[in-house]
Amino acid sequence: MSSSLEETKFILKKYNITANKRLGQNFLIDDYIIENIVNVAETSKEDLVIEIGPGLGTLTSKLLEKAGKVVAIELDEKMIKILNDRFLLYDNFKLLNEDVLKVDLQKLIDENKGNLTKVKIVANLPYYITTPIIMKLLEEKLNIDSITVMIQKEVADRITAVPGDKLSGAITYSVYYYAEPSSALFVEKNSFIPAPEVDSEVINLKIRKEPKVKVKDEKLFFDIIKASFMQRRKTLLNGLINSKLFDSKEEILDIFEKMNLNPQIRGEKLTIEQFAQIADYASKQK
Ligand code: SAM
Repeated sequence: MSSSLEETKFILKKYNITANKRLGQNFLIDDYIIENIVNVAETSKEDLVIEIGPGLGTLTSKLLEKAGKVVAIELDEKMIKILNDRFLLYDNFKLLNEDVLKVDLQKLIDENKGNLTKVKIVANLPYYITTPIIMKLLEEKLNIDSITVMIQKEVADRITAVPGDKLSGAITYSVYYYAEPSSALFVEKNSFIPAPEVDSEVINLKIRKEPKVKVKDEKLFFDIIKASFMQRRKTLLNGLINSKLFDSKEEILDIFEKMNLNPQIRGEKLTIEQFAQIADYASKQK
């Protein structure tokens, strides 16, 4: 039996608690996976690590060994009590009892970075809010180096798909704009208690210094991407017509012609550069 499994069972029993499904609590019990998450993030004493959802502290404990400082954000008050008891003696640990979606993360980073050279997000994310968390981390243009997170395999497949792939969706392009994503580790359901209903994957997002493409109007660029994937079986043209982002069908067809695009093409066939081009043509005409 792995030591994380024994430890998790012991803590749950000691504090007389059960996992809260509503908060996406699936506790990691596989030492190999925990070690690997820390390794994939290349955690070192030079790093400030922000952990989202530390739960019982299984991953936190490894991070505290390897990182310069760990700041953890946990919503569940029951976990806060456990974490405070468990890491009482660590002076490189800070805990916030907050909803991560409401935290001013850049402020938190500035307050805690000190002389540390890199800032990394490392987490086994609560799956009910995977996408909003990842998009918050990227859209707020935080001063961070990388994001290493465990998420549902299905979402991981979309995020790590190459734009233009069959699996690519709006999130593929949005993430690719800000970061270089890679898949690091497949994780089976039985690596957690309770076991989630889906398989998982650890992904790593290396934050780009500059976005992948230059666009005149970032909001319009993302709105066009979202509209293109609203109805997956429709053509790009129909998605854009329904979006109301253009004055007329003719305007879109005119852009397609300038770009030499077939009007029957689907959104997932486009490169990120082509989406940027559509957005720039559209913004010029406004
Ligand atoms: N890190 C632990 C582990 O690997 O065993 C627990 C991971 S569990 C999948 C997700 C954690 O996120 C839970 O502890 C849950 O309470 C916490 N959580 C859920 N929603 C949250 C939110 N909005 N903000 C911060 N933490 C949240």
